This record gives sequence, structure tokens and C-alpha cells, in this order.
Amino acid sequence: MNKNRVSTPYVFGPVPSRRLGLSLGVDLLPRKTCTYDCLYCQVGRTTDRCAEPRDLVPVEAVIRQVAERLRECSADVVTLSGSGEPTLHSGIQRVIEAVREVMDMQVAVLTNGSLLWRPEVRERLLAAHKVLPTLTSGYEETFQRIHRPHPQITLARLLEGLSAFRKEYRGLFLLEVVFLAGLNDTDREVERLREVIGRIAPDRVQLNTVARPPADPGAVALDRDRLKAIMTFLGNRAEIVAEFQRKGTRGAGNGGRELLEMIRRRPVRAEEACKTLGLDPVTFQDLIRGFLDKGLVREEEHLGTTFYVISEREVPEGEQNSNGR
Ligand code: SF4
Repeated sequence: MNKNRVSTPYVFGPVPSRRLGLSLGVDLLPRKTCTYDCLYCQVGRTTDRCAEPRDLVPVEAVIRQVAERLRECSADVVTLSGSGEPTLHSGIQRVIEAVREVMDMQVAVLTNGSLLWRPEVRERLLAAHKVLPTLTSGYEETFQRIHRPHPQITLARLLEGLSAFRKEYRGLFLLEVVFLAGLNDTDREVERLREVIGRIAPDRVQLNTVARPPADPGAVALDRDRLKAIMTFLGNRAEIVAEFQRKGTRGAGNGGRELLEMIRRRPVRAEEACKTLGLDPVTFQDLIRGFLDKGLVREEEHLGTTFYVISEREVPEGEQNSNGR
């Protein structure tokens, strides 16, 4: 086994994704590097808030790990996401091209879209099959409140980047709109969003809310009825991102190391961990009890569901995590 993979895993899963199918995740960033510090982030607070793309984790090691993992298991898509904003890695294009051309896999990029106003960042994403940026508001004040962006990032820049990318990009452009109760779910907000989304003209609009324990308790999930009403208002390109229903996994492996690695990436429910890792509920409970006893993970209730969350002190410097967008 590759020594680098053991010390610094850049690849996680495959995990069932509500939006992409069985997704092999690739983390291009040290935890936690982002242009934003969103209220709803499931990775935790941003520790390196920046806006200048640079060489972050080693691209060759990432590509090697993806190839190794794909020899061990199958996946529908390789998804670049991770512990923050993947377009902050200036080498993202090399990873996309290697996965697409050498490994012949579908590539998706989960991005907050905040750097798409930069032509070189747009250029780097053109080879991806799917790009999934995020929008929450058409008002600067709400945008600032929800995302707490780097000072270089404004709503005007985000919208300029989304529109420019839409014109240049030939793949599938899926715009995620994240709703937080009391922040961007008013009629005024939704009306402005419809206007702005109409100008961007994405292939689809995927409505989301806070599904896992957020970085800030002020991020409150929208109820399903309100989300449905918004979906109707936004028109036929809009859909609610449903919970993933796929049964079982293919070669995702099992055991304590994989489970702990999965929880490091994002808060996890028992049911999804069992499905993803092929664990039976008794084995899962044994493993999780051991982690809880050692203080490696903690339980957290969110919307009546128990999530297992990594203890902050357990995550070493440079470890990776999923942003779960
Ligand atoms: S939700 Fe995504 S964009 Fe927002 S802080 Fe977390 S990683 Fe960054």
C-alpha cells in the first residue's frame, strides 16, 4: 500500500450522494480552506479564508490515490469537493483531466462558485462533466450574512462568474440553492432569487437546506412544505434534492478505519454509514461505541436525527474533510 495514502488520504468513499449517485470523493484542500465561512457548513469553521488559488495538496499523489481506489471499487463519478473550496487549488485542471482522460470516469466539481469571476478558474473547470455551484441570495447583505466571505468576494462577483461560466461551459450546470429558515426564505428573497436564476439559466436548480449539523446553530433548516412552495415558484427547472435511496454499496470496504475516515469528512448517520461501508448495525454500534468511549467522536442531534461528528481534537493538522455540498 502507498505510504502517502496512509498518512494523508485525499480520496474518500465511494459514498452515496443525493445529487450524484455513488461518488468517489477527492479532497484537494487542507482542512479547512475556503473563500467562505458559511453558517451552514458541515465541515466546521473556516481556518484559512482566502481567495487566491495556489498549489495546495500534491496533485500527483491525489491522482495516484484516485487510480488506486478505482482499482479496488467502482463508482458512478469522481467528485472534487472536500474541506473547502476546490477551485482554490490551482492544479484542479490536472486532476480533472487525469480522471477524465486516463481513468475514463465522469468528473463532477462541487464548488461555491465564488472564484468563477476569474477567467483562469473558469478555464480549469471546462473539462468536468458536471459543475455544481451554490447560490443562496440575490441580495448582498444576505449573501454576506450567510457566507461570511473573504473581502475580495462579493455577490456581484459571484453572479458575474456564474453567468460567464454558464456561457463558456458545455457540461451539465446544476445550481444548488441552499435555504436557511429566517434568512433567505422570505417572499422578497425568493422573488429576487428567481430573477437572478433566470439570468444565469442553469440546467437545473437543486433546492437544499441544512441536512447535517451546521457550523453555526443559527443555520436552521427549512421545512419541506416551504421548500416545495419555493420549488413551484421557481418553475420547472427546480427540484428538491431528495434523500439518496440507493441500496447497498459496491466494494466500499468496511471496518473501523473506514468508518472513522468517513466521520472525519462530515457528520454521519448510522444508516448511511451501514449502507456505505456494508456494515451490519451490530458491528456499527460496536465500532461507534469504541470511538465514543475513546472520545474520538461525539453524538450530535440535528432535526431529530443522531449524527456522529468527529471530535475537534481528533482531527490532525492537514487532515481532509468533506464540505458535503
Ligand atoms: S459550506 Fe462549502 S463554501 Fe461554505 S464554508 Fe463550507 S466548504 Fe466553504
